[in-house]
Amino acid sequence: MTQNNIDESTEKRAAYCLSCPVPRCENGCPVGNHIRDYIKAIKEKDMAHSAEILYSVNPFPQLTCRLCDYARQCQGHCVRGIKSVPVEIHEIEKYISDTEKDKAAAGQINGRSIAIVGAGPASLAAAMDLRRAGYQTEIYEKLDQIGGAVYSGIPSYRFDKKYLDEIYEDEKKLGTIFHFGCEVGRDISLKELLIAHDRVLLTNGAQIENTYGLAGEGCEPGLSLLYHLNVEDQADVYQKKYHRAAVWGGGNVAMDCARSLVRILDEVTVIYRRSEKEMPANRDEIEAAKKEGVKFAFLENIKELRLDDHGRVIGAHCIKMHLGEPDASGRARPIETAGSDYEIPCELVIPAIGQSVSFEAFDANIKKQEGTHASTMPNVYIAGDAYLGPKTVAACIKDGRDAAAEMMRSF
Ligand SMILES: Cc1cc2nc3c(=O)[nH]c(=O)nc-3n(C[C@H](O)[C@H](O)[C@H](O)COP(=O)(O)OP(=O)(O)OC[C@H]3O[C@@H](n4cnc5c(N)ncnc54)[C@H](O)[C@@H]3O)c2cc1C
Ligand code: SF4
Repeated sequence: MTQNNIDESTEKRAAYCLSCPVPRCENGCPVGNHIRDYIKAIKEKDMAHSAEILYSVNPFPQLTCRLCDYARQCQGHCVRGIKSVPVEIHEIEKYISDTEKDKAAAGQINGRSIAIVGAGPASLAAAMDLRRAGYQTEIYEKLDQIGGAVYSGIPSYRFDKKYLDEIYEDEKKLGTIFHFGCEVGRDISLKELLIAHDRVLLTNGAQIENTYGLAGEGCEPGLSLLYHLNVEDQADVYQKKYHRAAVWGGGNVAMDCARSLVRILDEVTVIYRRSEKEMPANRDEIEAAKKEGVKFAFLENIKELRLDDHGRVIGAHCIKMHLGEPDASGRARPIETAGSDYEIPCELVIPAIGQSVSFEAFDANIKKQEGTHASTMPNVYIAGDAYLGPKTVAACIKDGRDAAAEMMRSF
């Protein structure tokens, strides 16, 4: 620690920042953090001001500094990174959030009430803003804890859930009421919520798993696997039942599945239809998976499953791929290489190839609309992955805040 109580390495990291007139790093941050300014406040040895700047935009830096793909996001845009290494922005953010807490208080109750469905990052960010502005806020969550995909999807070896407990305490202090174990559409209807509250915000995430027709005993979509391992603590069940697994996909869900399974099974192979460069997963996750012994089959794809007479998975029928012109996503289009079929023997296959959004549990008529968080149903709004499609914690924090602001303007 230095005399002004700022950790020496944080001061060094801050001093390395050029305080660019046009801070490119901020273009890479999905929350829109004022990175240059909170770093400048550290240079001026004013931690309280630095924290004030950070929290004014990002209510949950304890999540983003640990979960963002900062190598591609903020740090990937840092000017310093062109000729050398970028400023370690996530480490500075971590230091601020570990040492200074958000001091904003709840606003005077204004007599208006908002229900939020789901307790993931989008919901929690919206609830903070709504309470600070004086709205009565109640969150309905089907699971028994807050965090959404961060709680049920991200394994504890890579994210300490104590940060969720911290957020839960802050939200309760601000006066948000939580209804856990309450599934909207089953335990309470959307209609009932609309009678009890002025507005409803749907932040139910993107939880419908795509399997592209793969089915059989031993074929389990990624989110379900992670739920069984993280929430239901069923590692021993999988360990007894399976030896070899193939994980199909290249995003964060695929990496979490592969890294969780390599801890309990003999052999885990990730099958990804593009090359490593195109993998959407966080860079750190890919490197960690390799170190832990996960095998990677790049430019390969699963065509169908091999099942035994009892319908149990005994292998995955795969084909090699090559890359063509960029497709609508901007990434090179993977094309099957004729005659290159082969089989991977395995008893467990995990499709982790994307999720989609559904509002059918609430009302089949609800649709999102472009350019507004207001849905096609009066007084019902949508935010987070449910609005954006599967994205990131940082993007959902911003979207939850944007939706809250739009709801407040609607009165
Ligand atoms: C395995 C995995 C790993 C990831 N890794 C990263 C990462 O490293 N970095 C990163 O930035 N992002 C990561 N993401 C993405 C990130 O977690 C999500 O983008 C983010 O959590 C979405 O926030 P959300 O609030 O919109 O929805 P979610 O977090 O999905 O939360 C939705 C909540 O709604 C609840 N719900 C759903 N339906 C109902 C209902 N009918 N009634 C009541 N409650 C309901 C759910 O139980 C859930 O708690 C990962 C996602 C997954 C699945
Ligand atoms: S929120 Fe994420 S992208 Fe933005 S500054 Fe923090 S670590 Fe970087």
